[in-house]
Amino acid sequence: MSTKDYLEKDYYKVLGVAKTASQEEIKKSYRKLARKYHPDANKGDTDAEDRFKEVSEAYDVLSDEKRRKEYDSVRSMPGGFRGQQGGGFPFDLGDIFGQQGGPQTGGAGERIGDLFGGLFNRGGGTRTTGTRRARRGADVETDVTLSFGRAMNGVTVPIKLTSEAACDGCRGTGARAGTVPRVCPNCEGTGHETRNLGNFGFQEPCKECHGRGLVVDDPCPKCHGSGRATGTRTIQARIPAGVADGQKIRLKGKGAPGENGGPSGDLYVNIKVRPHQVFGRGGDNLTLTVPVTFPEAALGAEIRVPTFQGQPVTLRLPEGTPNGRTFRVKGRGAPRRDGTKGDLLVTVDVQVPQKLDDQAREALTRLREAGTGDDLRADLLQQARTE
Ligand SMILES: [Zn+2]
Ligand SMILES: [Zn+2]
Repeated sequence: MSTKDYLEKDYYKVLGVAKTASQEEIKKSYRKLARKYHPDANKGDTDAEDRFKEVSEAYDVLSDEKRRKEYDSVRSMPGGFRGQQGGGFPFDLGDIFGQQGGPQTGGAGERIGDLFGGLFNRGGGTRTTGTRRARRGADVETDVTLSFGRAMNGVTVPIKLTSEAACDGCRGTGARAGTVPRVCPNCEGTGHETRNLGNFGFQEPCKECHGRGLVVDDPCPKCHGSGRATGTRTIQARIPAGVADGQKIRLKGKGAPGENGGPSGDLYVNIKVRPHQVFGRGGDNLTLTVPVTFPEAALGAEIRVPTFQGQPVTLRLPEGTPNGRTFRVKGRGAPRRDGTKGDLLVTVDVQVPQKLDDQAREALTRLREAGTGDDLRADLLQQARTE
């Protein structure tokens, strides 16, 4: 960032804060704007992208007390400041991710990470005072579809991840194994050169080293000197027993590798569970609907109901069980984190016989005749008349 930037850009205005704003206010405003203009939320909108970069740049300066002072003093100088200072500006992804390492609500973790990587972390621009800054690897998000049973029992699934990583032929230096890059003589390793235009010093990425600060004489044959490679990794992801459809599992440190000693990002696995033919799921409980006959419901019965991957259990229906009543079979539900299990909720579905033989018809007719005589619908007809 050049002094020219400092003179021309009103970072306070960009962030919509007063010159006297506290760090807390600056951060708050930045987060709000960063979300608003985030490229992910404004696909293809280059204006938003520009605004996003502006906001990030402004925050980068104002959130750093030292640079903020520098900025304030440059802007308060009459007639402009002659000279330049500072090099590229590293973006700190931690700030927009709120430091908690997870994706924001909305769940665009991986894409955010990748996008930022693409926008801001190639080549130059990421160096300060000649040392490369450690950067946390991007969070990666992936979908895994499991059968009902595998989700219940837990499973280890191989997940193939493609990410950009340091080339393993040269460990990211870009130089053939056994050789080392040398400091760029043109920019003396700073990665940028200064062009003087009248009163102002412009800084541009060094043409010799394209902003890297290093030149490679003997390029690594594997990456042709870029130092980067697209790596495919397969990791074994342990999915705990009892995961439910729609759940998101975080596997710490299984995301994209960090750079320059930075920690790896996290892997977020979105779980999709294929439905079971018989069992459903409600939280930790499994659900099951069982058909029962009218006599079973009316007279009471002991019925056998299946459990998931277990022996059937006997369920006692009391006399006069209404249609739709749910019974609880303890401990036959989905596994919980603490090793206990939810329950199996069994709902009875009283069936009306579709075919009657003579004997059944006769029995039912007798039942009708033996009925209590109450008109079931009397109340209904009465209540329907109220206003
Ligand atoms: Zn290489
Ligand atoms: Zn250079």
